[in-house]
Amino acid sequence: MYRSKTCGQLRIGDVGQQVTLAGWVQRTRKMGGMTFVDLRDRYGITQLVFNEETNKALCDEANKLGREFVIQIVGSVSERYNKNPKMPTGDIEIIVSELKVLNASLTPPFTIEENSDGGDELRMKYRYLDLRRSNVRANLELRHKFCLAVRHFLDSKGFLEIETPVLVGSTPEGARDFIVPSRMNPGQFYALPQSPQTLKQLLMVAGMDRYFQIVKCFRDEDLRADRQPEFTQIDCEMSFVEQDDIIRTFEEMTKYLFKEVRGYDLGEQPFLRMPWIEAMTRFGSDKPDMRFGMEFVELMDVLKGTGEFAVFNEAEYIGGICAKGCAVYTRKQLDELTNFVKSPQIGAKGLVYARVTEEGVKSSVDKFYSPEVLSLLAEKTGAEVGDLILIISGPDAMKARKQLCELRLLMGERLGLRDKNKFALLWVVDFPMFEWSDEEQRLMAMHHPFTAPKPSDVPKLDTDPASVLADAYDMVCNGVEVGGGSIRIHDAVLQAKIFEVLGFTPEKAQEQFGFLMNAFKYGAPPHGGLAYGLDRFVSLFAGLDSIRDCIAFPKNNSGRDVMLDAPSAVDQAQLDELQLALAPKA
Ligand code: ASP
Repeated sequence: MYRSKTCGQLRIGDVGQQVTLAGWVQRTRKMGGMTFVDLRDRYGITQLVFNEETNKALCDEANKLGREFVIQIVGSVSERYNKNPKMPTGDIEIIVSELKVLNASLTPPFTIEENSDGGDELRMKYRYLDLRRSNVRANLELRHKFCLAVRHFLDSKGFLEIETPVLVGSTPEGARDFIVPSRMNPGQFYALPQSPQTLKQLLMVAGMDRYFQIVKCFRDEDLRADRQPEFTQIDCEMSFVEQDDIIRTFEEMTKYLFKEVRGYDLGEQPFLRMPWIEAMTRFGSDKPDMRFGMEFVELMDVLKGTGEFAVFNEAEYIGGICAKGCAVYTRKQLDELTNFVKSPQIGAKGLVYARVTEEGVKSSVDKFYSPEVLSLLAEKTGAEVGDLILIISGPDAMKARKQLCELRLLMGERLGLRDKNKFALLWVVDFPMFEWSDEEQRLMAMHHPFTAPKPSDVPKLDTDPASVLADAYDMVCNGVEVGGGSIRIHDAVLQAKIFEVLGFTPEKAQEQFGFLMNAFKYGAPPHGGLAYGLDRFVSLFAGLDSIRDCIAFPKNNSGRDVMLDAPSAVDQAQLDELQLALAPKA
């Protein structure tokens, strides 16, 4: 037996007990004739004491211990003279009588304590050391609890957990596929699933009725703080349901998870449901952060054509937000905001501001407008003395709204309105079926091509497809899309029609999705579902800034695993076997 107790277990009531502990040396301190060692394992830290006077040989051994040595000790639990109320084991220490080094350690490249001195890249390279830190480990523990609660809830509602393959054909979800060459079928490739979308639909055709899976999905797209090339979904599908049934089921699950895992009561009220167009108009986003207001005020009627400012007179959209109490912003602070909206990621042409002061409205476009227009501006935005109005305009209304959204989020952050311990959930519903892609010069599915149009909009597929709304919904929490799904098409003819609108020839649609359209000919039930982003959900619960922190072995921003040094080149022999040749370097 390596140990009789863990390093997080012993309390004052255990004083006098003889125990065996095993773990890692976090720290040793020599004070006079005493040596103190913090012994760590997954469960906590226990202080060990070695006394030169009573056992010199043993104390000498202890003085040789390095950080992260793995040791085993036998000793007796004793009450601590200097208690540490911050540690659960802080009332006791172990007077050690036997010490055995189980394994030595090189000096770790960074401190393995809550606040490490290691930079991101270094900690990722030695992620197995980083994971020894209690705050990092806590994120994985939370993730585990979260998954257990999901399984418990869905099982109680009759969902079956069914695995689907990882080597599949392409499953379009709007990103690039990762592809895997097939040795047995030279020149042919599998694709890793962007999600199990078509497979879960086939499980509905197969009569499984309620499916879920905690599943890895793979998307080859540019990375951000909330994106990884492989990420985990809680993927769900139900038969014989309408949008309301799905929303009700998963709202219940979300409330359950918040209560069980986060200890947060979302209350009895159903979540807010906001049509997509309203979310875009009021907040410039399909995932509005509802922890705070600062809603957009459209200012076309106040500022377009009422003064000499050409930028506004040519705009398709002029919108503003009112930042409470920010009229005191200095020139420097306002320049900072201007630079922010003009940065390449945001792309606005500029920022107009107006301070509301005792002496009236003072704006960066004063010279173009009469005092009456400026006071109308304050009235329309609800700005009072001391407030700052920030205005963005542009020739493309949707783009300008998105820019204003980024500014709203920044101001919300600055004003402390985005409290990580407060949660505001809503459903965004009634998404458009399609969006225009400038790049591809065609309509693209806004959710995915298997999403059903609103039944009343089906006739418009021929006349005005861009105006067709979908039976699609996203669950949004604090400005993060945590889940999304739709009612699916279950009719082969309608599915073929959607592929046609998306620009597929009948042959191409048959080649790529024949398996699904054929299945629909064998009695497909009406069905629908959704998927949650597990990593995003857990990071919200843990208050993390990046989903990487709740993933055991994440990739960096260039999609690399710096610990495994992947991706990497492969041997020529492997390429030959796959009949692959690399293009010469350009
Ligand atoms: N497969 C979808 C996605 O990954 C979710 C769904 O429609 O169920 O976003």
